[in-house]
Amino acid sequence: MSDCLFCKIVAGDIPADKVYEDDDVFAFRDISPQAPTHFLVIPKKHLSDLSAVNEDHEKLIGKLVRIGAELAAQEGLDGGYRVIFNNGPDGGQIVYHIHMHILGGRQLRGPLG
Ligand code: AMP
Ligand code: ZN
Repeated sequence: MSDCLFCKIVAGDIPADKVYEDDDVFAFRDISPQAPTHFLVIPKKHLSDLSAVNEDHEKLIGKLVRIGAELAAQEGLDGGYRVIFNNGPDGGQIVYHIHMHILGGRQLRGPLG
C-alpha cells in the first residue's frame, strides 16, 4: 500500500535499522525502543491488522513467529522476551500493517493491560 509506513520501509523508501529480510518477512529495530532490545517483525505483504488474516496467511504468520524466535535467539535474548501484537484502536495499534513486537534484554514487568 502506497501510504503505509511499513510498506515504505519494506520498499526501502524510508530507512530502517534492518535486522532480517527474506522473501516474505522483514524485521527492523523499533525507532522508539521500550527495552534494550526491541524490534518489529512484519510480513512484506500488507495486512492491516489481525482481522485481515485468513487461511491463506497461516503459513506466513507461522513463519513470522518462527523468524521472530530465531532473531530473539540471535540477539542473545536467552532469558526470554515478550511478544506483542497491538491490534486495533483499543489494542493501541498505531501502524496499520501487522507487526510483531519483540522486547527483551531486561526484566519485563507489569500487567498486560
Ligand atoms: P503499534 O502500532 O502501537 O504496535 O506500534 C508501532 C511501533 O512502530 C511503535 O513502537 C513505533 O515506535 C514504531 N515505529 C514507528 N515508526 C517507525 C519507524 N520509522 N521505524 C521503526 N519503528 C517505527
Ligand atoms: Zn503496509
